Amino acid sequence: MSNHPLILVLNCGSSSLKGAVLDVVNGKVLLSCVAEKLGFADAFITFKADGDKHKVALGGDHSHTVAVEALMAELKVHHLHHKIAAVGHRVVHGGERFTHSTLIDDQVMRDIETCIVLAPLHNPAHILGIRAAQAVFADLPHVAVFDTAFHQTMPEQAYRYAVPTELYTQYGVRRYGMHGTSYRFVAQETARFLGRAETELALVIAHLGNGASITAVLNGQSRDTSMGLTPLEGLVMGTRSGDIDPSIFSFLQENANLDMAEITAMLNHKSGLLGLSDLSNDCRTLEEAAANGHKGALLALEVFAYRLAKYVAAMTVANGRLDALVFTGGIGENSTFVREKVLSHLAVLGLSIDHDANLAACFGRAGIISQPGKTPLALVIPTNEELMIAQDTAQLAGLSI
Ligand code: AMP
Repeated sequence: MSNHPLILVLNCGSSSLKGAVLDVVNGKVLLSCVAEKLGFADAFITFKADGDKHKVALGGDHSHTVAVEALMAELKVHHLHHKIAAVGHRVVHGGERFTHSTLIDDQVMRDIETCIVLAPLHNPAHILGIRAAQAVFADLPHVAVFDTAFHQTMPEQAYRYAVPTELYTQYGVRRYGMHGTSYRFVAQETARFLGRAETELALVIAHLGNGASITAVLNGQSRDTSMGLTPLEGLVMGTRSGDIDPSIFSFLQENANLDMAEITAMLNHKSGLLGLSDLSNDCRTLEEAAANGHKGALLALEVFAYRLAKYVAAMTVANGRLDALVFTGGIGENSTFVREKVLSHLAVLGLSIDHDANLAACFGRAGIISQPGKTPLALVIPTNEELMIAQDTAQLAGLSI
């Protein structure tokens, strides 16, 4: 095993904690874990290392701290604990305060707290996780890496909603965007793959997972993105509707006897691919069903691809030109079907598809999938948010790599 310093990357939800120990030099994950049902009596944590997977019940108060203590015990078993040099924390919302990743101190914790209003489900869980990790890894530097930070370069014309100004100045109602860590990684990787400087590229990157968004990245900076104040805006997603007429809220209140909370839950959890297909939020399941004649599944995939293609055009406007459209995320990296459908709408921008190259660029393989010699390029570049968090953490912790 190498002697490179290792980074522990943590991503905490309200009842879950995901962890990974990475070697930032070669990107290898040496140990990973997922704790589930935190706060409940049947909380447990699953560890994966050296090809072995096992589950441990979490006793005590079943808290995030108990999970981090169990992780520390497992690290000791693998003789990894003394090699961990810093801890990187994924934080969903950094508001306008955080434009970059940052070392965590008391002021940073207070600022993450002030962003709770913008991410009421996520930020409190991150704070719990950071406190738990600070208690167990007390001597190590801790770094926060924000999903929103990359999008803070958006110009005002892209991030403001056309609503009364005081909604912005008093309540922070504006577009923030998400998946920023993924976009930063994929923009860098795309430049590396093409052998070009990030600062000379106009990219449109589509991060298509169960949550999905698309971003215009010009010269390495976000110029516009499809998610807004919350992750509900923009593309069709696994269970989220993406863009809708906001009057649907009052319409459903009056006609379907639903309240705000019920409508919000419906748009977040029962819509998107799931709502349209009446079958599943999972792209692979829908592709199989569509191939077997399921009309709802086919419609869901068509709406998904059409909305996405329209957004590619919009993001091209934000950049002013287009060198490459990049697909990433579970769907972007694997669904030849979706990529083909999206690109079939985009001949108007000069985009094309090479069918063999499309089939080859799957399951973690990067590749150019547009026709040889044609521009703009279409590419597949696998994302790796954990590695990006680990790299930021190593850099801010001052580790020489
Ligand atoms: P993520 O949230 O990035 O893990 O992406 C999850 C989505 O990727 C789900 O909709 C999966 O169905 C989709 N996905 C993963 N593998 C494939 C595949 N081979 N073909 C089509 N979709 C896939």
